[in-house]
Amino acid sequence: MAADGCKTVTVLGATGSVGRTTLGLIGDNPRRYRVAALTGGSNWALLAEQVRKFAPNFVAIADEDVYTPLKEALSGEPVEIAAGPAAIVAAAQRPSDWVMAGIVGLAGLSATIEAIRRGVAVAFANKECLVSSGVVMLREVLRAGATLLPVDSEHNAIFQVLEDRNRDMVDRIILTASGGPFRDCSQEEMAAKTPDEALAHPNWDMGAKISVDSATMMNKGLELIEAHHLFDMPANNIDVLIHPQSIVHSMVAYRDGSVLAQLGTPDMAIPIAHALAWPNRIPVPRARLNLVEIAALTFETPDSVRFPALRLAREVMAAGGGAPLVMNAANEVAVAGFLEGRIGFTDIVPTIEHMLGTFSVPEPQSIDDVIHLDSAARQMTSEILQA
Ligand code: NAD
Ligand code: MG
Repeated sequence: MAADGCKTVTVLGATGSVGRTTLGLIGDNPRRYRVAALTGGSNWALLAEQVRKFAPNFVAIADEDVYTPLKEALSGEPVEIAAGPAAIVAAAQRPSDWVMAGIVGLAGLSATIEAIRRGVAVAFANKECLVSSGVVMLREVLRAGATLLPVDSEHNAIFQVLEDRNRDMVDRIILTASGGPFRDCSQEEMAAKTPDEALAHPNWDMGAKISVDSATMMNKGLELIEAHHLFDMPANNIDVLIHPQSIVHSMVAYRDGSVLAQLGTPDMAIPIAHALAWPNRIPVPRARLNLVEIAALTFETPDSVRFPALRLAREVMAAGGGAPLVMNAANEVAVAGFLEGRIGFTDIVPTIEHMLGTFSVPEPQSIDDVIHLDSAARQMTSEILQA
């Protein structure tokens, strides 16, 4: 906490969907939060604008090619500017009370780990890192005494309704899923879907990679593994329900028959604000939930034939070892291939399944292991896609 009582905040991935929403909340609460460091991938113009508005001491951009325009845009500003992957890690090492881990994909691992190693509160959006590194990351959290605050709307919902004192009375975790933009499409229809169609999520406005993951439902597969690690819950005690309205963000069923849920409009500002203010709450000046207007909340079982990603994620959890890491790496490469127009939408999950059937790696024992094994799995997936 700074001398003026402000919580100091680092936003990794400030230029992304989660990062922009986080900074929006900080901008609404200037007396509560002060920004210490910001990072971006390649959007230097937006990052420069954010630096001018939030006045961090340090800013890092991953893409070294845009260091010069960023530096020129910030000439005269009292901020230290750096570029490249090491600069992103340096930003995470800068002192602050709270860090948003909002980089997408395993690219965020080193920075997220550095934030964890400082033993501070880490608001956890980047699910790919936890899926790939699993207990290796959890060990770092325990060792450093860091606090992981789940930001994914489902996991934030569970975090809000999971009673620590009654952990042994938890029967099941019920993750809800919107079903994505292709919820009612046949496999034939899905085969013809373009990146633009996959990016048009009916309820949530998100970055490109997670939007495609929502369309394949691999997002829910990653979230199953994320929930298993965050809440120490066996896969068999985690259910998934399709809930097209995205109002009930997830539920915890207790052995006494009570089912506790967290509800809200589908707006990431709500779980992000919860993590930002935790253990307190701050007002979020957005549209209130109007249940009369919504009128009906519906739930159905996911179709594992049209959406095999969920089945794959369950198989991966049962297999253990390095399987989750391979699944994540293959998914990241296949989704990038789809977004770049190199493969079709319905090639994404079969590519991952093929990788899981033909390529196995040992369970990582360290963060370095995660990085090396991930890179091997990515290379193999790229080769498969080129074949
Ligand atoms: P996004 O693509 O909008 O933003 C990603 C951020 O990471 C950007 O700032 C980008 O510049 C940065 N980045 C990308 N590659 C980088 C690299 N190699 N090095 C450094 N920075 C890099 O993604 P998003 O939708 O904000 O998602 C971020 C994370 O949060 C993902 O893991 C996603 O699964 C998770 N998440 C997002 C939402 C959502 O509503 N957007 C919801 C739940 C979870
Ligand atoms: Mg989610």
